[in-house]
Amino acid sequence: MSKTGKSKRMSVEHGTEKVQGGEVVVVGGSAAGLCTANLVARGGRRVRVLEAAEELSPAPRTLIVTHQLQNLVGAPAGECTVNKIRRFELFTNGRSAQVALQQPDLIIERTKLIHALAREAREAGAVIDCDTRFHAVAPNARGLRLEVETKGKREELHAASVVGADGATSRVARSAGWPALETVPLLQAIVRLPKDCPPDTVRVWFVPADTPYFYWLIPESEDRAALGLIAEDGGDASKCLTQFMEKRGMEPLEWQGARIPVYRGWIPVRRRIGRGDVYLVGDAAAQVKVTTVGGIVTGFRGARGVAESILENGKSAELNSLRRELGTHWLIRRALHHFEQSDYCRLVDLLDGSARSKLGEITRDESARLLWEVARRQPKLVLLGLRGLLLGGNSARRS
Ligand SMILES: Cc1cc2nc3c(=O)[nH]c(=O)nc-3n(C[C@H](O)[C@H](O)[C@H](O)COP(=O)(O)OP(=O)(O)OC[C@H]3O[C@@H](n4cnc5c(N)ncnc54)[C@H](O)[C@@H]3O)c2cc1C
Repeated sequence: MSKTGKSKRMSVEHGTEKVQGGEVVVVGGSAAGLCTANLVARGGRRVRVLEAAEELSPAPRTLIVTHQLQNLVGAPAGECTVNKIRRFELFTNGRSAQVALQQPDLIIERTKLIHALAREAREAGAVIDCDTRFHAVAPNARGLRLEVETKGKREELHAASVVGADGATSRVARSAGWPALETVPLLQAIVRLPKDCPPDTVRVWFVPADTPYFYWLIPESEDRAALGLIAEDGGDASKCLTQFMEKRGMEPLEWQGARIPVYRGWIPVRRRIGRGDVYLVGDAAAQVKVTTVGGIVTGFRGARGVAESILENGKSAELNSLRRELGTHWLIRRALHHFEQSDYCRLVDLLDGSARSKLGEITRDESARLLWEVARRQPKLVLLGLRGLLLGGNSARRS
């Protein structure tokens, strides 16, 4: 895993008192929390991770990420990769388009990722306490006082900084005064890979009558794939996915699902509480690309940013760049969100060879460049996007 900034031990000013390397407590031992713990520990600070689950073995989850993962976390990316994707096929109402990727996307398995990240964090010196649930944070003379429950017993901890990496319904965020996040359900079923689908190809269906997002089929091996959708309502997600499978003769082998935050504007990741700092990272800070509701790569970028901020006393170029990235995804989602079937048909028709080659060359983790290059090659897509924004504006006015 790469280090952020300087690895020298930093001192943090707390009013008149100087806390040399006071302990950083990270709440949540999942992707964003373990990545933050590793980076902060490598920067020379004492780090303790509190995880509510009895052990670090989250339920399996099949995830697709761009090759950026490799640059962000290094070795763990290789350890958790179970398949590589070289092509996307887009479908809508009988039309289709193919996009070949220049650099393959990675299909990763969450449990493997978490184990690899935990090993790296421990090697960097972080301590991971499982079966430890965070309840509340408040200021005290030394920095921050945390109320936690360890193996059913209430106790108090003290820290200079707390990082909330505890997911979409973050207790750290609520306790420190951040407002609750809007969330959407993301549901996927593991199914047998259909015979006509190559294992290196992801299929995406735009069906605006069912969801303003999309359905996907992501092969995780030669014979299994994750079929899923993002919906606006949990009941709809399950009903639509079941119907979608029935129509295609697919059977669910297992289910994976959770609510994921919707990014609706930048959430400042740091709050001063008395003499301590509270930070948010990952889903807890809605660091999720709202176009695809993917939060792994952006959560790792948030982790880098928060680690930089802790180690460099508030400054982080990574957080500024992440903010721009998430903002561009928000703009694209606003354009797509009110698309009707005819708009999606037009979108697929407009993806000619030149626009498709740019889509395959630039990843969705470089959204501003992607948007600019595709629009340059197919300016009619800009008009279609503007129409989407107008449709959104009109429906907002109507509602
Ligand atoms: C079915 C599904 C498919 C997805 N597919 C993709 C994909 O293909 N690509 C992609 O990029 N993203 C995908 N996502 C989103 C991605 O999984 C999340 O954005 C990411 O896992 C968020 O990581 P996180 O570490 O921020 O939070 P979480 O993974 O939610 O972790 C929060 C951790 O905090 C712990 N915790 C919670 N409360 C407390 C507490 N009070 N005290 C102590 N610990 C606590 C939890 O036990 C958990 O370990 C998918 C999500 C779902 C549900």
